[in-house]
Amino acid sequence: MVKLHYVHDIMIRRCTEHGYFRGGSCLQCKHPGRYLLDDGKEEKLGRFVSGTLRHFPASVGVEMDKCGWVNLNTFCEVMKKRYNWMRKEYLYALVESDEKGRYEVRDSKIRARYGHSVNIDLDYPESNFSYLYYGASPEEVDVLLENGIFPIKQRYIHLSTSYEKAAEVALIHTENPVIIQIDALRVQEEGISLKLATDYIVLAEKISPEYLFVVED
Ligand SMILES: [Zn+2]
Repeated sequence: MVKLHYVHDIMIRRCTEHGYFRGGSCLQCKHPGRYLLDDGKEEKLGRFVSGTLRHFPASVGVEMDKCGWVNLNTFCEVMKKRYNWMRKEYLYALVESDEKGRYEVRDSKIRARYGHSVNIDLDYPESNFSYLYYGASPEEVDVLLENGIFPIKQRYIHLSTSYEKAAEVALIHTENPVIIQIDALRVQEEGISLKLATDYIVLAEKISPEYLFVVED
């Protein structure tokens, strides 16, 4: 299996034509653009935004509605108290330059698109799939095949739209992931909803074991 390497060059800049980007030059026109955030500040903001929108809105005094939305201005004020260099533009920069599409801004509200442990109900439209994929460690695969896939600390389980994406996600946690294929058509026939959160991530409440098959490589 090919090992994936993650580049930690996460400085954020802005191209006047193509918007916010991470790294030294715009991905589309190669222009260096305008400097906004170094990777130290990006990491601090990223941790705070991710933590608040996914796990602990109440403990930092941010009100979240049942679909996971938080008021952007209120959130920004809370962040300014913690980081005096904080500016509202940094939130947009963080959201728009995120390659994984972790966050969403709409009508002066912001939310995380996936990864929650707080008890919310994400209202993405139902999507249809033939197959979905989940990468497991060799140690956990038998348990999953016997019991199905359930969220443990998270609100939803996170499935991938392709074998490759499932492998990429699993490689963060395990060296030799086993990829499980999910018969998504039959899952939906059972009444389990499958919600497309980003281009590659599908959220579900649970998947029963009869719909899981190990992909032999
Ligand atoms: Zn550009």
